[in-house]
Amino acid sequence: MSQALSIGVPRETAPGERRVALVPEAVARLVKAGFAVAVERGAGEGARIADEAYGAAGAALAAGAAGAMSGSDVVLKVRAPSPSEAALVREGGVLVCFCQPERDADALAVLSARRVRVLGMEYVPRTTKAQSMDALSSQASVAGYEAVLLGASHLVKFMPMLVSAAGTLPPAVALVLGAGVAGLTAIATARRLGATVRGYDIRPEVKEEIESLGAVFVAAEVVSDQARAAQGYAKEVGEELRQRQEAALAKHVAEADLVVTTAQVFGRRAPTLISQAMVERMRPGSVIVDVAAESGGNCPLTRPGETIVHHGVTIIGPLDLPSRMPLHASQMYARNVSAVLGHVVREGALALDDGDEIVRAMLAGPAGGR
Ligand code: NAD
Repeated sequence: MSQALSIGVPRETAPGERRVALVPEAVARLVKAGFAVAVERGAGEGARIADEAYGAAGAALAAGAAGAMSGSDVVLKVRAPSPSEAALVREGGVLVCFCQPERDADALAVLSARRVRVLGMEYVPRTTKAQSMDALSSQASVAGYEAVLLGASHLVKFMPMLVSAAGTLPPAVALVLGAGVAGLTAIATARRLGATVRGYDIRPEVKEEIESLGAVFVAAEVVSDQARAAQGYAKEVGEELRQRQEAALAKHVAEADLVVTTAQVFGRRAPTLISQAMVERMRPGSVIVDVAAESGGNCPLTRPGETIVHHGVTIIGPLDLPSRMPLHASQMYARNVSAVLGHVVREGALALDDGDEIVRAMLAGPAGGR
């Protein structure tokens, strides 16, 4: 009998990262399917998953990162490794994680020297076939939810309408810019908290989705054919459209108590949707949560990873939204990476077939050839 394919899951070491690549239920499924799984002790700590739960699911517990990585055919991670962690991946092995050529260049150089093939989770194509592997979407839905909770906790008022003996308070107005995965979850969350919600996107086809969540689609007048989506991602918009967009949005931004911005075009700097002048016309006490902070932000005042106050408006640039809900974020991520494994393992052996559209995109992305 051939040896079982081995999978290693190290503890995440990036500052503030609380997710883990596999949760115990995913381990149990993989063990049942014939894989041998090693999990570094403490890997689930950030998500409040005990080592014992991994052990009970059939994982071998490894004492350190090297124990979980060096002997494994496939290493599963959330974040790209540091260069020293990259040196622990077996020569000729496979690594599955979020990994981008510019951001993670040093680790990728180490991995390339060790002939490690890297399957980049950012590069799963947004197609029906690859839907179960789409970790950007699963994590973006966590981000959209967390963004609203974070924003609500910084507001100086209630989100829902409140009728009480101390008077009637109107609901807060929440505006969500960009209605992709994160944006739609943000809209749904703000609605559930009882806010009056408005949503905007350059893709006209999301109007119905926004409305079906009980929100109003705003600034429809600037939605243009120029901005038609390609392969599920919006194309970059021209300067003229940007100016019309800004003018139309200014009024809605000024009226909002909470603005959640999620606009992005994959692989590019996030578009500016809220200028400094627009922030200065907002009411003091209002809050902006810029979910696109990592790719430059939708507001020029956003400082990635920081919270600032400008003219009385709190501007939050979070970089750790999925990590704020680490258990469910990990559970969803584990489903995504398990689906990737299911796709690349045939009869117990790895088959990284370049002719396969999903494998090709995931291998090419980290190498800078998307
Ligand atoms: P997505 O591609 O599904 O959605 C982005 C949306 O922005 C699309 O609907 C697109 O049409 C829209 N858009 C693009 N340009 C626009 C413009 N000029 N005006 C209005 N809308 C525009 O992306 P997603 O998966 O929802 O992710 C959204 C953002 O969340 C990304 O920037 C991603 O990096 C970020 N994110 C952040 C965290 C965090 O911790 N901060 C975590 C996960 C995701």
